[in-house]
Amino acid sequence: MKILVINCGSSSLKFQLIDSKTEEALAKGLCERIGIDGSMSFTPKDGEKIKREVAIPDHTRAIQLVIESLTDPTHGVISSLEEIGAVGHRIVHGGERFTKSTLIDDDVIHDIEAISDLAPLHNPANLIGVRACREAMPSVPMVAVFDTAFHQTMPEEAYLYGLPYEYYVKHGIRRYGFHGTSHSYVSHRAAELMRRNYEDVKLVICHLGNGASISAVRRGQCIDTSMGLTPLEGLIMGTRVGDIDPSVIDVIRQKEHCHVADVMEVLNKKSGVYGLSNYYSSDFRDLEEGYEKSNEDATRAVKTFCYHVLKYIGSYVAANNGIHGIVFTAGIGENSPLVRRLIVRRLGFLGIQLDEEANNSARGVEKEISTLDSLVKVWVIPTNEELAIARDTYKLCHFAEENPATSTVTE
Ligand code: ADP
Repeated sequence: MKILVINCGSSSLKFQLIDSKTEEALAKGLCERIGIDGSMSFTPKDGEKIKREVAIPDHTRAIQLVIESLTDPTHGVISSLEEIGAVGHRIVHGGERFTKSTLIDDDVIHDIEAISDLAPLHNPANLIGVRACREAMPSVPMVAVFDTAFHQTMPEEAYLYGLPYEYYVKHGIRRYGFHGTSHSYVSHRAAELMRRNYEDVKLVICHLGNGASISAVRRGQCIDTSMGLTPLEGLIMGTRVGDIDPSVIDVIRQKEHCHVADVMEVLNKKSGVYGLSNYYSSDFRDLEEGYEKSNEDATRAVKTFCYHVLKYIGSYVAANNGIHGIVFTAGIGENSPLVRRLIVRRLGFLGIQLDEEANNSARGVEKEISTLDSLVKVWVIPTNEELAIARDTYKLCHFAEENPATSTVTE
C-alpha cells in the first residue's frame, strides 16, 4: 500500500509518499509560504530536487499541488491518485482523549478541535491539512497520529504539576509531552538493535533537535518526558527557554516594562541557545564552530545545553530504576559528536564508556558509540517520524479492513 504522510503547519506542508511494503520513501516534498506567496519543492526517489515558485493561496491548493507532483507524467512516482491507499496525518496534540493513532471520522475531527486550546498554533493547522485531503480524496482512509500519544502511559506522579489539582480537573493542565512519534520509533529500534525485549528494556531517549526533549522508557512504556503542557518546558532548545522559575516571567515583565505576551515571545523565540549565546546562533553547526574557536558566547551556550541534558539523563535513570541504553536522535543528537561527547563523558559514574572513534564517525547513521565493555549502551539512531506515521496508518487501515468495528492501533 502507498501511504501519503502529511505534516501540515499554518503556512507549510511537508509530505512523503511511503511504500508500506518496502518502507521506502517514493517521494518527498514541501509546500511553503502558503497564504503568503508560495513555493514548492519535490524530490522523487532517485531523482533531483525540483523547486519552483508557485502561488499557493491556501492548503487546498497545496494538496492539489502535492497530488499533481506525485502524478506528474515526467517526474511523478504514481500514475493516478487511485494508488494512494491511505493518508497519515501528524497531529500535535491529542490531549488525554487520544492515547493511540486513530482512523479519522467526523467525531475524531470534532474531538481534535475540542482540544485545540492546548495547542492553538498547531492543531488548527493540522486539521486544515486533514480537511483539504478529505476534500481531494474523499474515499481514501485517513489516520491521525499524535505527538502526545506515546507519553500517555506516564503515571500520575510524572504528569501532574504541583498546582492546585482543580486546574488539572477543570482545564487539563498537566504534562503531555511531545515528539512522541520519534521517541516511540527510536526506542523500539534501540531495543531491536540491543537485542533486548522491548517490554524489559530501560532506556533514556534524547531527541535533540531545534526542539528538544528527553523521555524515560521502561518496560515498553514512556514513564516521563521533559516537555510539558506545551513544547516550551524541559531542555534548553534552539530558541525556547526550557525549564525556568515561573517567577522569571513577572520579573522580566516589570523590568522590561512589557506585557506577559511579550515575555512569552522572548521565552519561545529569543531564548534557548540563541539567547544564551548572546544571539550568536540557534544552530548547532554555528555554535560548534564557535566552540572550537573558543568563542565565549558559543561555548557558554553549548556547555549549558549539554549540562541540562546530563541532568535530565541522571534524573531519568533514577525514574527508570536503572538503565540499559541511552539513545541520541534528531538533528543535533544524530550529527554532533561534540554534544554527545560533552554529555556522555560525564556519565562514567554509571559505568558508561564512550568509544571516541565511533562517536566521531557517527553522523546521521545508526551506530553504537559506547565501548564493548561499557555497562550501559549508547546509540545514535536517526529518527524517522514519517515512517512511524506510515506504519501506524498502514496497521490501522489494514486492521480496520479485517475488523471494521476497531479504529485504533493495537500494539
Ligand atoms: P526540528 O525538527 O526541531 O526543527 P531537527 O531535528 O531538524 O530540528 O534539528 C535541527 C538542528 O540540528 C539544527 O538547528 C542544528 O542545530 C542541528 N544540526 C543539523 N545538522 C547538524 C550538524 N551536522 N552538526 C551539528 N548540528 C547539526
